[in-house]
Amino acid sequence: MGKIKFYLGEEIPLELHKAKIVQKLDLVDVERRAAAIAEAGNNTFLLKNKDIFLDMLTDSGVNAMSDNQLAAMMIADDSYAGSATFTRLTDALKDIFGTDYFLPAHQGRAAENILAVTFVKKGSIIPMNYHFTTTKAHITRLGGRVEELVIDEGIKTDSEYPFKGNFDLEKLKALIMKERDNIPFIRLEAGTNLIGGQPLSLENIKAVSAIAKENGIITVMDASLLQDNLYFIKTREEQCRNKSIREITREIADAMDIIYFSARKLGFARGGGIATNREDLYLKMRELVPMFEGFLTYGGMSVREMEAMAVGLEETMDMDVISQGPLFIEYMTRELIKNGVPVVTPAGGLGCHLNALEFIPHVRQEEYPAGSLATAVYIAGGIRGMERGTVSEQREEDGSEHLAAVELLRLAMPRRVFTLSQVKYAVDRIKWLYDNRSLIGGLRFVEEPSSLRFFFGRLEPTSDWQDRLVRKFKEDFGDSL
Ligand SMILES: *Cc1c(COP(=O)(O)O)cnc(C)c1O
Repeated sequence: MGKIKFYLGEEIPLELHKAKIVQKLDLVDVERRAAAIAEAGNNTFLLKNKDIFLDMLTDSGVNAMSDNQLAAMMIADDSYAGSATFTRLTDALKDIFGTDYFLPAHQGRAAENILAVTFVKKGSIIPMNYHFTTTKAHITRLGGRVEELVIDEGIKTDSEYPFKGNFDLEKLKALIMKERDNIPFIRLEAGTNLIGGQPLSLENIKAVSAIAKENGIITVMDASLLQDNLYFIKTREEQCRNKSIREITREIADAMDIIYFSARKLGFARGGGIATNREDLYLKMRELVPMFEGFLTYGGMSVREMEAMAVGLEETMDMDVISQGPLFIEYMTRELIKNGVPVVTPAGGLGCHLNALEFIPHVRQEEYPAGSLATAVYIAGGIRGMERGTVSEQREEDGSEHLAAVELLRLAMPRRVFTLSQVKYAVDRIKWLYDNRSLIGGLRFVEEPSSLRFFFGRLEPTSDWQDRLVRKFKEDFGDSL
């Protein structure tokens, strides 16, 4: 998707693809929406698809696939061992990352499990720009600890800084000075998920790699959101203007010892795995694949998905393909800003992020503003987002609440899935909600699992605020859904 100029001056992203298969959507009325969110324990993870109009929960496993991916699925070579599909996937990875070895895993967190079991032990410290939920859970389960070293700008929601996912290099050096022997690897997360899909610069990636090498520490990149990060390096990093996406990808890969990813995001398919050029590290991890995932030539993935992934990875080298997500997100972010709605800036990858602390400052963090806002956006428009705030954190060991650094409602933009009018509808309903924000109240847990509580936890509103929101909606919209 290029930045194509319109004669009439309108600034909108133009799709460079066409729809060949479509899925019918339903928009249920506001009363049904209020009932559905209550049935789901005010947790958008527990909503049923039949009640959802725009599913902006995640970009994971829900990206539109290309005709070439679907065609490739038909030639998948289904065998337990030695599958030609596996060879094609390994070759595709070698082609873009230059890596000789690939360990397949059924999705990103499975790759994290293998990495954690191999390298993390009690007392280990894993420096990273920012944590991801499943990553942190695997590390802490094994007695390790996560140290977040993102630059201060990274957690400022309102910013113009182009690379908010960058490491604070001084903090990294200081931590290594103190804890060198307890650090098995440094983890760099591309397109930093929990702070709004914010990228690292190529310069920062190389600097972290140099520091790690000086100290003999392994570098591991979580490349799940690399696609968006590549787009931002190409468009925002002066020294990379004239580099191709392929060249940038290769420079990143050359700076890393290990790259792992969720192919539910990178590669427009479903699966994951770990790529490396280091035989020693490959051999250390290899035996865990048949133990946790499946034989070494499929790792729990369907061969069809592996074929699709090989093609999808190749398509990721195409700027026309990878720009669609960031440009749609930029559009949505810009339109919300025009309407005064507080969002994370600059627009990142993955989705548009509403800043709940500013949207509903009257809701205390202990009453989960991002979680409340998620229920309100669903009631207002049948739009399902994901809470990325305190509900997504784990309580401290003493049982006290760990208040998140930011309270965000993520409205993910699955790649090539939504049309611009659907995005406009989302902006419209969010603007209505913002004008009625004083009606929004808080939530409290009624069922709270001790680990990854955001997946299964159930909550209730702290008052009848959702009923009042429904009444106001009917007043303003009448018969309209
Ligand atoms: C999605 C994601 C994961 C986990 O991948 P799954 O395929 O969902 O298990 C890990 N890291 C990041 C940055 C992600 O976005």
